[in-house]
Amino acid sequence: MPDATQALPPLRQPVTRLWGVGAERAKQLARLGICSVEDLLLHRPRRYEDRRNFRSIAELELGAPALTRGTVVASGTKTYRKGAKSVFELILEDGTARLHCRWWNLPFMEKYFEVGNEVVVFGKPLLLKPRTMDHPETEVIEGGEERFIHFNRIVPIYPLTEGLPQRWLRGLIWRTLERFGKQIAEPWEGLLLKLNVGQASRLSPPSESAAPIEKQARRLPCAIPRAEAVHWLHFPETLDAASLARKRLALDEFLELQIQIQRRRRNFESKSSSMPCGGDNRLIKPFLAALGFKLTAAQTRVLREIRSDLRGAHPMRRLLQGDVGSGKTVVAACAALMALESGFDVALMAPTEILASQHFRNFTKWFEPLGIKVHLQSGSRKTSNIESPGVTQHVSRLTPHASLTIGTHALVESGFAPEKLGLVIIDEQHKFGVSQREELVRKGRYPHLLVMTATPIPRTLGLTIYGDLDVSVIDELPAGRGSIRTFVRTAEKLPQVWDFIRQRLAEGRQAFVVYPRVEDGGPTGLKAVTREFESLREKLSPHQVGLLHGRLNGKEADAVMSAFRANTVNVLLATSLIEVGLDVPNATVMVVENAEAFGLAQLHQLRGRIGRGAHESYCILISDAKNPESRERLKVLEQSNDGFRIAEEDLRLRGPGELLGQQQSGMPRFRFGDLAGDLDLIRTARELATQWVK
Ligand code: ADP
Ligand code: MG
Repeated sequence: MPDATQALPPLRQPVTRLWGVGAERAKQLARLGICSVEDLLLHRPRRYEDRRNFRSIAELELGAPALTRGTVVASGTKTYRKGAKSVFELILEDGTARLHCRWWNLPFMEKYFEVGNEVVVFGKPLLLKPRTMDHPETEVIEGGEERFIHFNRIVPIYPLTEGLPQRWLRGLIWRTLERFGKQIAEPWEGLLLKLNVGQASRLSPPSESAAPIEKQARRLPCAIPRAEAVHWLHFPETLDAASLARKRLALDEFLELQIQIQRRRRNFESKSSSMPCGGDNRLIKPFLAALGFKLTAAQTRVLREIRSDLRGAHPMRRLLQGDVGSGKTVVAACAALMALESGFDVALMAPTEILASQHFRNFTKWFEPLGIKVHLQSGSRKTSNIESPGVTQHVSRLTPHASLTIGTHALVESGFAPEKLGLVIIDEQHKFGVSQREELVRKGRYPHLLVMTATPIPRTLGLTIYGDLDVSVIDELPAGRGSIRTFVRTAEKLPQVWDFIRQRLAEGRQAFVVYPRVEDGGPTGLKAVTREFESLREKLSPHQVGLLHGRLNGKEADAVMSAFRANTVNVLLATSLIEVGLDVPNATVMVVENAEAFGLAQLHQLRGRIGRGAHESYCILISDAKNPESRERLKVLEQSNDGFRIAEEDLRLRGPGELLGQQQSGMPRFRFGDLAGDLDLIRTARELATQWVK
């Protein structure tokens, strides 16, 4: 029977086309994300093993990971205490000594070995008398041609899944490379090779001497043909060649992304802006005069950048970065006024209802005296004059003045569609996906876009996910802020911490207590935080404690927040919901329980809720985490208030997904690229993409 997949190019064909891959194997491969022949060829080894140099068993050293080999002379399973615990033991011998390999509670290991098998072992000796390794990695070596693939070379060790043997997968990749390797094409019409024609001809094949290759790798990973790189990825002749191959493949990934980004960007630039939103200062002047403080130099500089964009020939696409508390809201207000002065409507989107209603209150206070209408539209409520899309349009046609609408993601989902949407502002952009941002923009006819974030973005990420935006940075905090001191403590110290809070409360200050249970903790999470609430109330009485979590409706949350703002509630027990945007300058103490459950950047954001007034502030991170890494991680916050440094550290330790939040749906996945370390490659890709797109 004819099969549609037959018509696909060879690399796109499903793995079941390959000899030896049946339904069962295909299922296992799919668990590793391998569906097509190409996926298989790009399956990245976890590490490499140099099987040209083995240690003899007698040479093994205590605690030092090493590669050795031997012949199975005996094996058996022992069971302790009525089958409660078992150990399978394999004894190898290589002519110099014997090695005991043990696997606890994995009785099925027995069936993988027979006496007389030759076995390669990689592991760490934990005893020398007798020489013993627990749970080493092993592979039985067979003779014949296969030996050439798995032995006497640098061998790739792949990530596996249950039931899939290392040797089988390596053999499959070897055969597939032989058959299809030549068909791996140069993407982008050989852009990389063409750009390096001169150098490429000088590139010698990998040799035993590492130095020249390393030099070349540093200079031009793009000089290797892609097909060659895929070959080196699996069966490199030197470890340097493997790293060179990784770089070339990573460069391809970054380049693909950069080409997309630059195309998107050119697409915007081809749209000329029909919305001159630079304004005439008629509203900004009285606004700044009534504000009660002077803008910082950084705020003023950023506003100049924004104004020139709003007047420009193309719609603005700008990312405003500024650490927590640097005063982004006022900048957003000024940008909004520029558009309003020019007669255009403005939309402001915030990630939570609490933050949207805080903005609503501030902007109403600022804008009503100027005669500007401010509307609120969030999931749970709307202000009266935008009941329905029909009415919205009606209202904006009747009222001569442009207005500001503030909302949550409800703005995207609702029928909100103002006639003259000139500017879209997105606060705490990292809490939204790229798609939500684009949907809101699509509501107008290419309005200007300003996105704001307090998560400092390491350069690599800035160039990848935000690569299509221009960047402004507020790198200065308003003067007169008290400092924030941070301490990491164990739960044992909590009684002293409560004492300390009582003293601050007695002085008239306020406090946040952040409970780790996240919003999606389900009913049990809610119960736990309610129990915590009762006990905190008792501990801090007669001071008033309020409770804030994601399950409250808009009215309830507003009531708690107003009371906290008015200081009739003195302590707010909250989930990480308060992470973004809240501004209550009288709150000077924050306790975060189970701090190790949060990312560093997230803790830095949380900590940004305090230190907003003139008083000294204190952030106490409670953690009983036993492992030293967790504690080291938290120490970074004790030592630094620099959001940038903290974000870089977080990226290194937890990866981009954690740093940016799950919402970042625009986040590409890289097989080879490393966002924490490949800044140079990303830069190169960006330059190349510019040439290519032109
Ligand atoms: P973020 O950048 O974290 O969004 P906000 O915009 O909430 O910060 O500002 C934090 C606080 O600083 C607010 O109370 C705001 O009114 C105040 N603020 C902003 N700019 C200045 C300034 N130039 N001088 C003094 N206070 C300012
Ligand atoms: Mg803010």
